[in-house]
Amino acid sequence: MSVRRALLAAFALASALAAGALRAAPLEVVASFSILGNLVSEVGGERVAVTTLVGPDADAHNYQPRPSDARRLGAATLVVANGLGFDSWVERLAKSAGYKGRLLVASTGIEPLANAETSEHAHDHNEPAVDPHAWQDVRNVVRYVGNIADALAEADPTGAATYRANAARYSAELTSLDETIRQTFAAIPRERRKVVSSHDAFGYFGHAYDIRFLAAVGISNQAEPSASGIAQLIRQLRREKVPVVFVESISDPRLVERIRKESGAKLGGTLYSDALSGPGGPAPTYIALMRHNLRTLMAGFEGGNG
Ligand SMILES: [Zn+2]
Repeated sequence: MSVRRALLAAFALASALAAGALRAAPLEVVASFSILGNLVSEVGGERVAVTTLVGPDADAHNYQPRPSDARRLGAATLVVANGLGFDSWVERLAKSAGYKGRLLVASTGIEPLANAETSEHAHDHNEPAVDPHAWQDVRNVVRYVGNIADALAEADPTGAATYRANAARYSAELTSLDETIRQTFAAIPRERRKVVSSHDAFGYFGHAYDIRFLAAVGISNQAEPSASGIAQLIRQLRREKVPVVFVESISDPRLVERIRKESGAKLGGTLYSDALSGPGGPAPTYIALMRHNLRTLMAGFEGGNG
């Protein structure tokens, strides 16, 4: 090889290395649970690498962080939690991991609903005062997305325009989803819009879309209802002619199955409340989750006999 050729080759290699170094490494973001992880991916796009601590089909209320979670936080530039008492273990984890970055509470600025204790049958005195399941109202998620875009832009100012554009595109999809849910339920008479779910996760959904949810288990998905609590719920189902009961992907179906048998209501399929499904399931993204729940609820209402 001539000297000139060797120099050219060395120059080409140096240029390639420089180009690689200029392409910024993705921003490391940790999200507490799968639904939030999806929202961060929608806004962050390719600029962001998202790690989710509580994965698909898992319950974030009662999560016990592992040592590997602390290591993930240690490597993160931004940590995103839901707040409202849903995932307060993230704060403890951040402290113990020595995490010094920003902890974004994605629900900041939404109007929290009080814990209405629709599950008085499962009366649990450890229940929080506020319902944390704010993502079940699509309009709240538009706020989540705005908060996430702001935090990403602050952590990575070069990407700010990209984050804002992604957030605007995704928020438009959310607004159209919200409209679809309203228009679809409009076909169901008000007196038939009553269902039972496993745990009390649909307060915001019910409030936003005018559906009455009764739940067997409380907001934290924790306390087992007493025998008298279950009997009381079954009497209420019969009295109010609740046509259909649903199981949840993150809950043991046996309690709901028992309530269904004894009340004579119909079993309406599986709702996704607090977690996405895996990639092959019916709810691998937030929008797919809400569409799945809408279809499942409609099938329950339309097939009911009340
Ligand atoms: Zn929950």
